[in-house]
Amino acid sequence: MDIGIIGGGINGLCCAWQLAKQGHQVQLYERDALMSATSCASSKLLHGGLRYLENREFRLVREALRERDAWIKRAPHLAQPLRLVMPIYQKSRRPGWMIALGLFLYDHLAGKSQLPKAKRLTAQEVIRRDPLLKSEGLQGGYEFSDGQMDDHALGLWVAEQARQAGVSITEHTEIVELTQDGKVTTANGAVHVHDRLINVAGPWAQRLLQASALDSPYQLDLVRGSHLILQAPCKQAYLLEAPNDRRIFFVLPWQGNTLVGTTEVRQTLNKPIACSPEERSYLLNAWSHYFPDALPNVIDTFAGLRPLLRSAEDPSKATREYALHRTGKLVTVLGGKWTTSMALADKVSHAIY
Ligand SMILES: Cc1cc2nc3c(=O)[nH]c(=O)nc-3n(C[C@H](O)[C@H](O)[C@H](O)COP(=O)(O)OP(=O)(O)OC[C@H]3O[C@@H](n4cnc5c(N)ncnc54)[C@H](O)[C@@H]3O)c2cc1C
Repeated sequence: MDIGIIGGGINGLCCAWQLAKQGHQVQLYERDALMSATSCASSKLLHGGLRYLENREFRLVREALRERDAWIKRAPHLAQPLRLVMPIYQKSRRPGWMIALGLFLYDHLAGKSQLPKAKRLTAQEVIRRDPLLKSEGLQGGYEFSDGQMDDHALGLWVAEQARQAGVSITEHTEIVELTQDGKVTTANGAVHVHDRLINVAGPWAQRLLQASALDSPYQLDLVRGSHLILQAPCKQAYLLEAPNDRRIFFVLPWQGNTLVGTTEVRQTLNKPIACSPEERSYLLNAWSHYFPDALPNVIDTFAGLRPLLRSAEDPSKATREYALHRTGKLVTVLGGKWTTSMALADKVSHAIY
């Protein structure tokens, strides 16, 4: 079949690669440059999403854990295992037994993973690894496995695999309208007709449907997440509770510096996707709570917009699941994590028939 794909983020690229491997003729349209939107503004984690267990997203966590391992095998030069520590303090909202139970389940859902299982640490062991971490009230912690990637470089590597499989990629070409009959119109008025169309435009997927007078049974909830890059080497990767609202945030090693994120702020598409002063101070406060003696120097910030399926008032409780919606020759993808992009592509390859 001749298939048109709209969106050159990780989900669009994985769909293109997968469909080309199956023998389809694939044309991908990207409005800007490949991998220039949400997919290069992630926390760089290939993960099952430990915190999604609190929302009982067992199917998604199992799929994401298997995909985490698959990425590490598929592209070991750009995706590596990462050990994270979750310290437990006297005042932690999540008690030690809850973390132990969650990690037991996490390892179980990972199946026959090649990554080491979770392990309990004493307070002394936690501090020995990182003497700058706040020791007051520290009761111990747990370390567990996930993966880390260079999201931009890994996405471009997928694009290269897709090209080699025969995908034709057109950058700087915006699709302004599509139809259920497989027709797309570009911003400069060119019209192309495909046997199937995949709308995988991330946060913009629903707006494209609306601009084309098409409905969807799913609504997107657009939630910005910001990160800071601190000029300091990071001795240990952490999953931490923010002191005020007890949300989970990450402190991660990133290219010799420290990556701190993220936030959850609803926004619309007509506003710039950038880290606000409030998010910057929220993240700095959270970081300083755990590293009171370190002086942070913020060298960069970045932000992305999560295309979540609308499901809850509190964005941190919103589902991270994705959905496919087919009408005529058009398949629209709504939601989707970086980690699960190949599994999503596999489902899209079945939805086109
Ligand atoms: C702050 C943050 C942290 C995250 N951290 C992680 C993480 O650590 N691990 C993880 O697994 N997931 C993470 N995610 C989720 C993950 O990054 C996203 O779900 C994923 O990148 C979405 O990819 P996508 O291809 O659907 O969207 P995008 O990457 O946004 O790609 C959509 C593309 O479509 C293009 N486009 C839009 N409209 C048109 C049009 N009309 N015509 C042509 N092209 C168009 C856009 O330019 C864009 O390039 C995070 C998300 C955020 C926001």
